[in-house]
Amino acid sequence: MKDYDVIIVGAGTGGYVAAIRAAQLGLSVAVVEKQKSLGGTCLLWGCIPTKALLEHAHALKIVQHAKDWGVTGAAGPIGIDMIQVHARKDRIVGGLTRGVEFLFKKNKIDWIKGTARLSGQGAVDVYEGDTQTLRARKEIIVATGSAPRGVPGIEIDRKRIITSDEAIHLPEVPKSIAIMGSGAVGVEFASIFRRFGSEVTIVELLPRLVPVEDEAVSAELEKSFRKQGITSHTGAKVTRAAATGDGVEVDVQLADGTAKSLRVDYLLVATGRGPVTSGLEIERLGVQMDRGYVTVDETYRTNVPGISAIGDVITVAGVPGHPQLAHVSSAEGIIAAERIAGHETRALNYGHVPGCTYCDPEIGSVGLTEQRAKERGFDVRVGTFPFGVLGRAKMAGDTDGFVKIVADKKYDEVLGVHMIGLRSTELVAEATLALRLESTVEELIRTIHAHPTMAEAVGEAAHAAHGAAIHL
Ligand SMILES: Cc1cc2nc3c(=O)[nH]c(=O)nc-3n(C[C@H](O)[C@H](O)[C@H](O)COP(=O)(O)OP(=O)(O)OC[C@H]3O[C@@H](n4cnc5c(N)ncnc54)[C@H](O)[C@@H]3O)c2cc1C
Repeated sequence: MKDYDVIIVGAGTGGYVAAIRAAQLGLSVAVVEKQKSLGGTCLLWGCIPTKALLEHAHALKIVQHAKDWGVTGAAGPIGIDMIQVHARKDRIVGGLTRGVEFLFKKNKIDWIKGTARLSGQGAVDVYEGDTQTLRARKEIIVATGSAPRGVPGIEIDRKRIITSDEAIHLPEVPKSIAIMGSGAVGVEFASIFRRFGSEVTIVELLPRLVPVEDEAVSAELEKSFRKQGITSHTGAKVTRAAATGDGVEVDVQLADGTAKSLRVDYLLVATGRGPVTSGLEIERLGVQMDRGYVTVDETYRTNVPGISAIGDVITVAGVPGHPQLAHVSSAEGIIAAERIAGHETRALNYGHVPGCTYCDPEIGSVGLTEQRAKERGFDVRVGTFPFGVLGRAKMAGDTDGFVKIVADKKYDEVLGVHMIGLRSTELVAEATLALRLESTVEELIRTIHAHPTMAEAVGEAAHAAHGAAIHL
């Protein structure tokens, strides 16, 4: 039986980052991963391949407007070659997963290729693949992540009624696709397929698209999607979906109660993800669970000494709606590793987690929405600045969207920043630091924003929150 200080089950962005940090701090580390490559959902089916497809969609958008850009030689029918798209995406994914393998070697982390279960008192039983029993001297970290979750009554056949795992590998551009759910995954695929040429229909149960975002962001996205020819049914419900040989019949109950039937090539079920713990036998060891998630404290300890958990598979006691995001899982992995190595750790502030959605137009947000700030009793002040006024946006030919700052009137503290439009997923970094440093709006005003950049909109939104944007 081989001994390590730390054994991690799962090499996603939670597990592999925890492994590297633990090794950096002098601990001996093994990671058990059942997939053929390291990196988990993010690298294999999630963040990286979806954003690669979105970059292809962006390239296509530029070529479709070649005339406006004065680019010649692009005459004739413009389309997308899915073989080339997938080949490029797979090269990117392959390069990154090999990069994680390199980091494992550099940090002397052992990758045990197989499927593991926990068998008590520090023991990890690798029961498929490179079968063996391992022992953790200090801690086992469960980082087994999440998988797409279905909806009762809708049978996912993975051929016509699909999840994001299949959507990312579709060899063809569907003529038509319906998407259930308008969270990040749903709207990102809507942007990809619409730009590639599909007829796209979104069915969202809640009254607006991207329902976790600020209402103004949802409204702007709906407006932009409408302009692009994406049909959105909000407050609507899929009541039946039946796969036929070459398509799907989808019945929808619209917000006003009327029924609508669609006939589409594919139905993408993008209604959320659930924890992966099957076969781990973690409950048998007495680990406390909550609706299938592993319950942990703020330094990621379970109630059973020697067993921690991080990432998509957890729920943190006292934190409602733990975010299932790659950067959150990595941040949790670092804290868990540092605590196991005996370092002082500080709890993550889940209120300061940036959320990025890479649809077109893209969305970046951090902190409280205007509505949530009001619900919490803040006397709210808001400043909004449209990207359309910025020179940089005009140069890029991409002028939709805005930055909105939500602040507390009493102390001028920035409570939340919400943006939609070009480079929002990058601009949110400044907003995240502002919240982390408990900045005031005044401090954002006094921060010099380079010209010409999209970031000027953050400074201008701060000016607007004080009632005086310069360029409006
Ligand atoms: C389409 C899509 C797009 C996304 N885009 C983004 C994005 O842009 N930004 C972002 O922040 N997040 C994004 N996410 C979410 C992000 O991918 C996840 O939050 C992140 O991957 C969670 O990391 P994790 O380490 O907790 O779990 P995972 O990445 O799911 O990794 C868990 C690993 O554990 C392994 N495993 C499970 N059980 C066992 C076992 N018993 N034995 C051995 N190995 C096991 C699995 O094979 C897997 O590799 C996206 C997700 C999807 C589906």
